[in-house]
Amino acid sequence: MKKLVFVGLFLFQFTALTAQDQNSPNIILMIGDGMGLSQITAGMYSIGNTTALEEFETIGLAKTHAHEQFVTDSAASGTAIACGEKTYNGVLGIDPKNQYLESILEYSQTQGYLTALLATSSIVHATPAAFYANVDSRKKYQDIALQLSESNVDYFIGGGRKHFVTRDDKRNLVKEMSAYEMVNTLNKFEKSQSKKIGFFTDDDEPKRLSEGRYPDLDKLVVATLDKLATRKKPFFMMVEGSQIDWGGHANELNYVLSEFEEFNNAIASAVAFAKKQGNTIVIVTADHETGGLSLLKGDVARNTVSGRFSTEGHTAAMVPVFAFGPGASSFSGIYENTSIFKKMKVLVQ
Ligand code: MG
Ligand code: ZN
Repeated sequence: MKKLVFVGLFLFQFTALTAQDQNSPNIILMIGDGMGLSQITAGMYSIGNTTALEEFETIGLAKTHAHEQFVTDSAASGTAIACGEKTYNGVLGIDPKNQYLESILEYSQTQGYLTALLATSSIVHATPAAFYANVDSRKKYQDIALQLSESNVDYFIGGGRKHFVTRDDKRNLVKEMSAYEMVNTLNKFEKSQSKKIGFFTDDDEPKRLSEGRYPDLDKLVVATLDKLATRKKPFFMMVEGSQIDWGGHANELNYVLSEFEEFNNAIASAVAFAKKQGNTIVIVTADHETGGLSLLKGDVARNTVSGRFSTEGHTAAMVPVFAFGPGASSFSGIYENTSIFKKMKVLVQ
């Protein structure tokens, strides 16, 4: 009897050990569009001199330049991060020699991963599109929508429904995507038992948070992670804080700050999941800095900060990369943004 209990315990420990050591990790990649160090610094002070990014032990810096262009746009940098190749600004998932690229999302699908895409822009906007689309112009939203409809992403949440239903080719992609349950509220998303779910948060581009965008990104992250955790496969999930960039383009610091705060909450939720679930790496980075923001005044005790923008466009400043979880240490150092793809690919076996 004693012997049996001992053998049982031994077996239990053995299985626990192999599951931990050999399973490919879940990957949660979080991109703050336009979120340079100044945006993080301003956001941190504005919410009480603290950020979820302080949890991360590994920090690196990524070079963001595009192919033959010093300052990148979100399509070229999205392609670099998602597909591992520098390309021309405006191009998604195609390299400068016109070769179609396989994204980390698509590669992870071939390795048995489930996938999810969440954005606070439309789901066909450049950053999320870099993970599933191959188009020569980021503005070809209808083509990008068609490619999402054929991509087999398991869960997607974002705006842009009109590109699926009001089309020049008269097709209704929402109807064609019969494997999906399409929902229009968080409640319906949470209650759905479907294995593929699409949640359009807006017909077009979602509003800014300060004008009532709903639901908050951290709630969407938690709801999606709840679903992924019940499935018996590893997953790749990309979460974009899309509108930090739009605050930079508008040269409105308050817009940047509120969008950062929401993204910061989403990061906190992802890290909490990684701690609880284990075998999950959270990577947080930006595709580029927006606005050339310099912070010139502030009051730490009063949570205030003010600054000046030097452009309504992007800048070439390197962006930080934060990593937490298994494989995180490979993200330290200074490297091209294309290396983020390569480092993730190593983790997906
Ligand atoms: Mg974006
Ligand atoms: Zn931008």
